[in-house]
Amino acid sequence: MEIFKQIDPLKAFLKDQRLLGKSIGLVPTMGALHPGHLALITASKQQNSLTVSSIYINPTQFNNPADLEKYPRTLEKDIGLLKDAGCDVLFAPDNNEMYSQKPFLKFDFTHLDKIMEGKFRPGHFSGVALVVSKLFHIVDPDQAYFGQKDFQQFVIIRQLVNDLQFNIALHCIPTLRENDGLAMSSRNLRLSAEHRQLAGIFYKALIEAKQKIVSKIPIAEVKEFVEKQINAQPHSRLEYFELAHSSNLNLLNNVSDGHRPILCIAGYIGEIRLIDNMYLD
Ligand code: AMP
Repeated sequence: MEIFKQIDPLKAFLKDQRLLGKSIGLVPTMGALHPGHLALITASKQQNSLTVSSIYINPTQFNNPADLEKYPRTLEKDIGLLKDAGCDVLFAPDNNEMYSQKPFLKFDFTHLDKIMEGKFRPGHFSGVALVVSKLFHIVDPDQAYFGQKDFQQFVIIRQLVNDLQFNIALHCIPTLRENDGLAMSSRNLRLSAEHRQLAGIFYKALIEAKQKIVSKIPIAEVKEFVEKQINAQPHSRLEYFELAHSSNLNLLNNVSDGHRPILCIAGYIGEIRLIDNMYLD
């Protein structure tokens, strides 16, 4: 695996690869890799002749400085996992390389970044859109791979690609889970053993909510049920639970045909914030 910490040598390498006729798949990550990330690498490898992964903990997408400071950093282990997964190129820049000057650019995605994650993490999606735009410009991939776990992020990146006419095909890869259903996440590393035992509650709530909605229980009642379930357990707290239209993220109060609605949930176990989602069908 080729490892680059700087933009110019990476670009020169990729230019040569393109001249050799290679198609390029990009998998952006913040490291502390787990099988969920590696599923994105596998998907890229199946569809491209060269897979580039990035590991960069992007400061502009953290609205909480403590979260940025405590974000797990496991670069050596990550390099081993990427090699084993057959990733061809790793781009692991530092902050000087990605933000040599303080950026002025802010993104506004109208209603898409005002709800759910956007409501509770102001500025988060602007930072995501900024770093993803930079990575798209640097790598210029044919295809890029993101996880369904961060579903709102995927919808926003899809909008970014449409609005800025990036010539990149996007793929949304299903969420990989632990045995108890907990969505794999780098932040799970920060859960204490006791809190890890409790963290499956968000997945359980999604399953139960889905069953209730399918049995025609009104959404308002289901929301109340989920809130009670999560908040009744010590150490856990619900931040939001919403039913959304999966293509335009409009929040829904009922299920009607053609929406392909998705349930989205976020909350805390202790100090660790977790998110998850599930399609209704
Ligand atoms: P992160 O390192 O958390 O920024 O995640 C990098 C990419 O991996 C994002 O597109 C995530 O949505 C995706 N991802 C994270 N966790 C999972 C998971 N459990 N299953 C599938 N994809 C994931």
